[in-house]
Amino acid sequence: MTISQELAAITSVVDGTAASYLNDSTEVRGLHGHADAVVAPGSPEEVAAVLAWCYEHDVPLVARGGGTGYAGGAVPEGGVVLALERLSRVRAFDPLLWRMHVEAGVTTGDVRRLAREQGLMFPPDPGGAEQSQIGGNIATNAGGPHAFKYGVTGKWVTGLEAVVPPGEVITVGGATRKDVAGYDLRSLLIGSEGTLGIVTAAWLRLVPAPEAAWPVAAFYDNIAAGCRAIERVFGNGLEVAALEYLDGGTIDAAGASFPVGMPPRAGFLVIAEADGSAEEAARLRDEVVSVLGEGALAVSAPSTKEEVADLWRWRDGVTFAVTAQLGAKLSEDIAVPLDRIEEAMEETLGIGRRHGLPACSWGHVGDGNLHSTFLLAPDDPEQLARAARAADDLLAMALRFGGTVSGEHGLGLVRSGWLGRQWGPRAAALHTEIKRVFDPKGLLNPGKKVA
Ligand SMILES: Cc1cc2nc3c(=O)[nH]c(=O)nc-3n(C[C@H](O)[C@H](O)[C@H](O)COP(=O)(O)OP(=O)(O)OC[C@H]3O[C@@H](n4cnc5c(N)ncnc54)[C@H](O)[C@@H]3O)c2cc1C
Repeated sequence: MTISQELAAITSVVDGTAASYLNDSTEVRGLHGHADAVVAPGSPEEVAAVLAWCYEHDVPLVARGGGTGYAGGAVPEGGVVLALERLSRVRAFDPLLWRMHVEAGVTTGDVRRLAREQGLMFPPDPGGAEQSQIGGNIATNAGGPHAFKYGVTGKWVTGLEAVVPPGEVITVGGATRKDVAGYDLRSLLIGSEGTLGIVTAAWLRLVPAPEAAWPVAAFYDNIAAGCRAIERVFGNGLEVAALEYLDGGTIDAAGASFPVGMPPRAGFLVIAEADGSAEEAARLRDEVVSVLGEGALAVSAPSTKEEVADLWRWRDGVTFAVTAQLGAKLSEDIAVPLDRIEEAMEETLGIGRRHGLPACSWGHVGDGNLHSTFLLAPDDPEQLARAARAADDLLAMALRFGGTVSGEHGLGLVRSGWLGRQWGPRAAALHTEIKRVFDPKGLLNPGKKVA
């Protein structure tokens, strides 16, 4: 009997050759997976039964959310893919208590929409929200533009239901907003990229949505001028909700569709969003306009909700516009301390030049988080190999600057092996020991994160 046939007795089996379950957003850098079976359980108990079967038969298991990941975390190298899409129930929504209890397969976009309809906000806003799932966001501890003020996904999770080896459903935390009773297993599972357990449901914390949110976009000649403007936002104590940037190469790729026209020769763009009560947001926006205006080529401040939505929709599409330049790209998501961002942006371009690849960067600059990117022609193994070497230089630079090899996408497959280079030997060994405690057979997403 094949693995698919055996698992069919336990749960719902998807066509194992379905390519859509074998890749994620790393497909544009040439990563393709293969699996022996793809299953889509309909309950936590079925998830537990699949994991128990895998444990009994020594078969690896890869959890799969929306498949939007940028680290190859959901890309299988054989074994079973467990898709969470059928765990899509909202188990409870208590708007008056600012909380929601959802299954792992609910999309990020649906959580945010449901909250918004009741005047609330689930702040994490990763760009692939219509496809990514809350379980995937938790497994990667996803960020997004508004993480600058509101923090990353983990900050909004008060409890988790998860399936852990050899096949048991556990809950850590719950609807309680505070809990210091045990070791913080919730935080260990958050960001563990499917290597410690499979998240099946989560209790989420919400906040009242700000009454108003007004972004300001300011253009500069070059990286140096843009970085001075970013420093002034901090120096003037402006607590904006989002602080984003695009460098010149990114503007060249995405600028043509900027909603309100762009000054010629713009070499850097800063977007800062002021939010709060109507009065607070308007006051802060005026301050942001004034502070970003110094030394700017132009400042644009949308004044209607439609214009604001257009600006963020454009920002969400930047990654696709950059990919479209040559047909493929290799993007890293390093984060560095704020006093090193200018060097990191310049050195991204320098590394590209050294390896003969067009380079650019954009990202969540308030968090020091750069999406440093090398442009490629699709299916060119020689270029891909050069880009991989350029990426190694980039990750090494992040560590040299006291930063991290991943600010939000995780290590997955593409950055596996880097954990030991970022952390000291004992801290790296502790990671391996923790993995062994949760997953003694090493069957949960092998080769990822702690490999
Ligand atoms: C256009 C675009 C914009 C993006 N913008 C951002 C951004 O701003 N910020 C950001 O952080 N990321 C961003 N991303 C990356 C991606 O959306 C996030 O990493 C997201 O959290 C992945 O969720 P997913 O459901 O697609 O997970 P997948 O890609 O399916 O999986 C990601 C990892 O999580 C594991 N996993 C998935 N579900 C579970 C589960 N239920 N239990 C245990 N492990 C699980 C997988 O095994 C894998 O290791 C973007 C991606 C795209 C395509």
